[in-house]
Amino acid sequence: MTTEPTTAPAPEARTFKAEVQQVLHILAHSLYTDREIFLRELVSNASDALNRVQFEMLTNHDLLDPEAEPAIWVEADSAQRTITIKDTGTGMTRDELVDHLGTIAQSSARAFVQQTKEGNKAAASEIIGQFGVGFYSVFMVADKVTVLSRSFRPEAEAALWESTGGDSYTVSAAEREGRGTTVTLHLKEDASEFASTWRIEQIIKKHSDFVAFPIYSGERQINQRKALWRRAPREVEADEYKALYRQLTFDSDEPLLHIHLSTEVPVDLHSVLFVPAKRERGLIERRVEGKLKLYSRKVLILDEAKELLPAYFRFVEGVVDSEDLPLNVSRESVQSSPVMQRIKKALTSRLHRELNELADQKPEQFAAFWQEFGVFIKEGVASDYEGRADLLKLLRFHTTRGGDELVTLGQYKSRIVDGQSEIYYVLAASLDAARTSPHLDPLAARGLEVLLLTDLMDGFMLGGLRDYEGLKLRNIDEADLELPGEVEAAAPQVSDEQFARLAERVTAALGDKIKAVRASKVLRDSPARLVSDDDGMGREMQRIQQMLGREAETSPRILELNPSHGLVAALALRAEANADDPVVVAAAEQLYDNALLIEGLHQNPASMVPRILKLIEAAARPE
Ligand code: ADP
Repeated sequence: MTTEPTTAPAPEARTFKAEVQQVLHILAHSLYTDREIFLRELVSNASDALNRVQFEMLTNHDLLDPEAEPAIWVEADSAQRTITIKDTGTGMTRDELVDHLGTIAQSSARAFVQQTKEGNKAAASEIIGQFGVGFYSVFMVADKVTVLSRSFRPEAEAALWESTGGDSYTVSAAEREGRGTTVTLHLKEDASEFASTWRIEQIIKKHSDFVAFPIYSGERQINQRKALWRRAPREVEADEYKALYRQLTFDSDEPLLHIHLSTEVPVDLHSVLFVPAKRERGLIERRVEGKLKLYSRKVLILDEAKELLPAYFRFVEGVVDSEDLPLNVSRESVQSSPVMQRIKKALTSRLHRELNELADQKPEQFAAFWQEFGVFIKEGVASDYEGRADLLKLLRFHTTRGGDELVTLGQYKSRIVDGQSEIYYVLAASLDAARTSPHLDPLAARGLEVLLLTDLMDGFMLGGLRDYEGLKLRNIDEADLELPGEVEAAAPQVSDEQFARLAERVTAALGDKIKAVRASKVLRDSPARLVSDDDGMGREMQRIQQMLGREAETSPRILELNPSHGLVAALALRAEANADDPVVVAAAEQLYDNALLIEGLHQNPASMVPRILKLIEAAARPE
């Protein structure tokens, strides 16, 4: 191996792009506690380059060194205070060295600078790998770095890139046997600890143990010989799964669930899937297409595969490996291959099975899952007809029965009363609001359980959840809701004439906002509610639009007033005494707004304040 350039032309000096200079400055002058991650970045670059060259080899037979072992070699020299990382990956031409190691995407640099500025030191190691600035992390520990590289393209010549990390670097022609890249770090004095074979092996074990290519130190392979997902599940320790998760995701939390599948029939499939603990992992989460890596015969086919699971499982991370995938084809056609469909089916049903088991055996953990990812399951119910039966089993609801207890549709069904043929639900702004909903009055009186739906996603979900095992879902705000069982009606406190007069006043006060005013036959503890007499689906879509803050015409509803309620009786008396009583008008408007508020549909609650003040004033005035 030649590490020095040939005599030929003098090295060409170049300056880094401004963004690189900025990043280098931060890296070289900040005190990072976890500087060791530079090695993870170099190994990861080497592994990427090996992946790329292997992928190339599937279709291109005209490349340098087809027989070279795909591997990574690391070496430390304490006397020279150097570390060398060598790979047989794609290598880089002189132009590629300039392009890849002299520039960074502006957006990445900006994001990096932004993140580190915010005093986010602890997270520096997590940030570095995510913004495409990985290579430059070498300048945390080195004051001079050389990259000797030769591309896999047969006609390309080797080149040498060299920098001391300031504002500039040089490139020159060089000699290198065979394809690949050799990065040499001349360590800073305060980083001499890394020039130790023991130390670099320790770092690789910690951060790069699952890299899919052998990493050699001297003659010895120091990372796992066999990919974890290709080992028998019973031989893998819990800690090893955690370590794999960390290496895949950079997530410092432990995953909520790991699933290891290993089958040969009906499809060859080895996979480790993870459900993270949290839906969001802060600002530094990468935006990705999909979170699964797809391998076949040790070649990384897709880094961000999204076709391997239904969209609603897109929070699942992991690795999928199958020998059955056709390899001599493009990435696009891999995705449409029938094998992909079989893999997808196997992964999906296994995930459902494990989640159901989690629910049975570890209800607390399942509750945590539901809290974070329930919204994806609801989305699945709305959008994935195929998965419906499985998805319905995972659904959980708050109901009028329990406090915080979550209820399945199956449990609801098992508790229905004689004559009940529907599943009742109420839509509201929050659980507290739902529990005060006036629509609950007649159901509470009959002891009927009601699902409390408070998520924006619930509206979408209902689109796919019209019935469950023969029971229709029914919104209890319907004007003509028929309920099983009899209850004694509450005694009216106003005469029909008094009520008619009040209804007239309220109709005049609310105008187009409502369709009509009528006496409620079902309200008991609540004075008023808004009921709908049109098609439920249209109403729920309107609701979604409104909750998203979009302009949406609400079709006017019917205002029901409760003749047995003291407030309604008091208003009726006032309307009788003075047809133009402003308190009656204000109260009517407020009752209407209250109904919207509880349902989460009030666009501007603050606008109620002046009216509430007037009502308080009227109440406070001495008789
Ligand atoms: P990232 O790896 O996130 O793209 P880096 O700064 O680590 O960002 O690397 C920049 C680019 O340099 C890589 O995308 C790759 O094209 C190239 N590169 C780095 N190391 C190697 C290597 N060992 N072999 C081939 N190309 C490499």
